[in-house]
Amino acid sequence: MTVYAKPGTTGSVMSFESRYDNWIGGKWTPPVKGQYFENPSPVDGQTFCEVARSTAEDIDLALDAAHAAAPAWGKTSVAERAVILNKIADRIEENLEKIAVAESWENGKAVRETLAADIPLAVDHFRYFAGAIRAQEGGISEIDKDTVAYHFHEPLGVVGQIIPWNFPILMATWKLAPALAAGNAIVMKPAEQTPSSILYLVSLISDLLPDGVLNIVNGFGVEAGKPLASSNRIRKIAFTGETTTGRLIMQYASENLIPVTLELGGKSPNIFFDDVMSSDDGFLDRALEGFSMFALNQGEVCTCPSRALVQKGMYDDFMEKAVARVASIKQGNPLDTDTMMGAQASSDQWEKIRSYLAIGKEEGAKVLTGGEPADLGGDLSGGFYIQPTVFAGSNNMRVFQEEIFGPVLSVASFSDYDEAISIANDTLYGLGAGVWSRNGAVAYRAGRDIQAGRVWTNTYHDYPAHAAFGGYKQSGVGRENHLMMLGHYQQTKNLLVGYAQSAK
Ligand code: NAD
Repeated sequence: MTVYAKPGTTGSVMSFESRYDNWIGGKWTPPVKGQYFENPSPVDGQTFCEVARSTAEDIDLALDAAHAAAPAWGKTSVAERAVILNKIADRIEENLEKIAVAESWENGKAVRETLAADIPLAVDHFRYFAGAIRAQEGGISEIDKDTVAYHFHEPLGVVGQIIPWNFPILMATWKLAPALAAGNAIVMKPAEQTPSSILYLVSLISDLLPDGVLNIVNGFGVEAGKPLASSNRIRKIAFTGETTTGRLIMQYASENLIPVTLELGGKSPNIFFDDVMSSDDGFLDRALEGFSMFALNQGEVCTCPSRALVQKGMYDDFMEKAVARVASIKQGNPLDTDTMMGAQASSDQWEKIRSYLAIGKEEGAKVLTGGEPADLGGDLSGGFYIQPTVFAGSNNMRVFQEEIFGPVLSVASFSDYDEAISIANDTLYGLGAGVWSRNGAVAYRAGRDIQAGRVWTNTYHDYPAHAAFGGYKQSGVGRENHLMMLGHYQQTKNLLVGYAQSAK
């Protein structure tokens, strides 16, 4: 076990600046209106730095810088860009522990996850797109013996990106790596709850990119995000966040007829068929781990398996073990490597989850474990902690239908395959899902029948760079990860060339 010292204190591996400006055109740039907002850590509720509170004027400066940089960057060879992406990956890896602690302190998540998942996945993402861009080929069609159609991939130019607070570094990476690989210049707005870990990352990698290729402008959604998403100087807007905000982003983008990718909310079903209990060969243990994954990242995951559907034949036996597993989740100081569940990312989010705990109880859902905020005492008493909670109820309840974005699981039972699929699909969302069965045919059929962009089978919460990720229904538009993502940051140039020497 290691307990990392709080950033900026004796023995800590990293420290934040006390004030962060915007990163524009390769320089730290104060906000035009001179305003800053406080950034508290959810670990102890105390402010640890202040950050630029930007407005449309700052977005304009960043767009100026991006437009100045885009033509030259777009003309670099894919080999040059791949080298830079690999250097970024190496630099993140060299500083993994520091970035992991920064991320944990700012977001409240357990450092064991940032060390083992968030930051290594970010490293791999840059490496993957460094390789993917080199492997990408254009196309040639022979129209007739003298006429050829060439298809080239061109960067879009300047793109806007807006991200949420639940995986600050990884969400930034999911957007930055493919956009940079494809040769675009970027203006990104991080979430106001978690701006600093990204700025810390930028301070580590800033020498690797030409000035103006990457610009980070901080601030609130309406003040800074809206002017970015509605600007007629971007060629695309990529957004991750709430479904309601996604709708607004699409409206802004429609004014300028630019493409959008939207990664939005979810209410993912996790289905457990009777046969997971049939023998004690380790499979049941994996399934129980899959059940408890709703608490990963304090439940602040768009694909949180927040609805468990358990087949009636094994319901009592399975649930006894499953609830015991959840009750054994170790909550504590996020900077302690033994801690499994840390703090919710903000006081607003903490309040929202508490209100859903009350709603679940009022609508008659039965609390099987948890159900209250957690007071961890000592230095952590000002932090935003919630007990991992399991409700039993039915799919028409609000706690089954609305995205809580916290460590709250709602469990229902089902009789047969058709009922399981019908409950699974009875949601506005379609981002993730899980299926647990030893029967390959059942698992395959369920995977195809569930209306979700990613269905994990006998596993959950894996996020490799080379698997497509995105939502059906109100969970989004477009995909992230996988080389198909490059297409979202490129346009196709067709040259149709006649080589005939004389009239046909
Ligand atoms: P949010 O929509 O409130 O905010 C996301 C970002 O949008 C922030 O940077 C915010 O400042 C900005 N924003 C808010 N209003 C805006 C506006 N009017 N114009 C422009 N920008 C605006 O979402 P959140 O609370 O930060 O994140 C949680 C949500 O994100 C959850 O619904 C979760 O499911 C979703 N999410 C989805 C994925 C995915 O890949 N599908 C991944 C992570 C999170």
